[in-house]
Amino acid sequence: MPEMIVCFKEVVDERELKVNPKTQELMTEGITRKISDFDLNAIEEAIRIKEMHGGRATGVIVGLPECKPSIKKALSMGLDRACLLSDPAFAGSDTLTVAAILAAAIRKLGPFDMILCGEASTDGFSAQLGPSLAERLDLPQITAASQVTIEGNQVVAERSLDDGIEVVEASFPVLLSVTKEINKPRLATLKQILAASKKEVLEWKAADLGLSTDAVGLQGSPIVLKRVAAFRMERKNIRLEGTLAEAAERAIRELLREGVL
Ligand SMILES: Cc1cc2nc3c(=O)[nH]c(=O)nc-3n(C[C@H](O)[C@H](O)[C@H](O)COP(=O)(O)OP(=O)(O)OC[C@H]3O[C@@H](n4cnc5c(N)ncnc54)[C@H](O)[C@@H]3O)c2cc1C
Repeated sequence: MPEMIVCFKEVVDERELKVNPKTQELMTEGITRKISDFDLNAIEEAIRIKEMHGGRATGVIVGLPECKPSIKKALSMGLDRACLLSDPAFAGSDTLTVAAILAAAIRKLGPFDMILCGEASTDGFSAQLGPSLAERLDLPQITAASQVTIEGNQVVAERSLDDGIEVVEASFPVLLSVTKEINKPRLATLKQILAASKKEVLEWKAADLGLSTDAVGLQGSPIVLKRVAAFRMERKNIRLEGTLAEAAERAIRELLREGVL
């Protein structure tokens, strides 16, 4: 009966993002927040494993106190409990530091068999957190898993590569990051949504994890974000006139000239 940890992140809904035309900065105020897409797959996979093999799944999130609706959603889907790691001192933490915070919390939660992460977050999209966490906890890691099977205390996973599928296995304890293809996240029923309010949510700050405030946040983060620039796309506004055949010929000529074909 595997003891599972699921790391999930709350992100802004990228479909609502706008760029301030003057400063080129992202305008995130008032935007809907949600669980990062691949993390829904990680949550779903933990629930499926629990349904087949029993065990327990604990969600862990480094986020703002306002991320409680996302925690409730994860619990409604079927996680057994959650752990919110939130502290003003965490602001400005880079990937390495977020991994250090998660590692400290996972150690504090006690023995586990599997950690499930998304392959990458839908905002930062560095895909570094899972591998970084595995290194900190000295675990074998299987990244980009598109299918997972548990056999005793062994995990067998398929990894989708550009040129084929790789099948790998590892013994517990192990960290997996999962792709979107692994499953279709479920929608919680009304009964599950109501039951989620009664599930345990632990809340820990830096001090609870034995982390000094110098080791987290901006001070503890070696990555310095210098500038955020928006990608600008200028249209050439070339009009293809004439018959369909003439327009097609001109389109091909232009694409060849641009080196696209
Ligand atoms: C200098 C700097 C300052 C930053 N300041 C802030 C800040 O003030 N506030 C802020 O929110 N972000 C901040 N970030 C971004 C933050 O560091 C990253 O979002 C985080 O480290 C995860 O990286 P990622 O989004 O690329 O995740 P990836 O590595 O792409 O994520 C892979 C998987 O890791 C897990 N995961 C990722 N993030 C979390 C999380 N927070 N909790 C639980 N599981 C997670 C999920 O399973 C996810 O699918 C900052 C980054 C930098 C470089």
